[in-house]
Amino acid sequence: MIIATDMPEVAKCVISQCAYNANDACHARAITIGEGADPDCDTFFDNASHTSSSRTAGVGACKIDDCTHNQDFECTADSIQVGSKGNSVNCLTYTKH
Ligand code: SF4
Ligand code: SF4
Repeated sequence: MIIATDMPEVAKCVISQCAYNANDACHARAITIGEGADPDCDTFFDNASHTSSSRTAGVGACKIDDCTHNQDFECTADSIQVGSKGNSVNCLTYTKH
């Protein structure tokens, strides 16, 4: 069974080396944000071959509960953007409480 669910859209991601990335967009079905205490993209997958999907990814889960957009470990923003911050791949929409 395919489950339909409303998720915040990943409006933009500039991490072109990720397998799910094409044309500055994420085409995973859903991503997870949060690795340790940082709002990193936990779904990031550095890979030579890339998805052929054209779907727009959603934010399936977010472990960063000190973000103002987080409620019950889910993201409630309308959409997010992902990019690099230092050496990590971050949710750029993260807003600390
Ligand atoms: S949002 Fe994460 S999984 Fe999607 S393309 Fe960017 S780094 Fe990859
Ligand atoms: S905006 Fe906040 S709650 Fe949403 S994915 Fe980014 S860090 Fe998580």
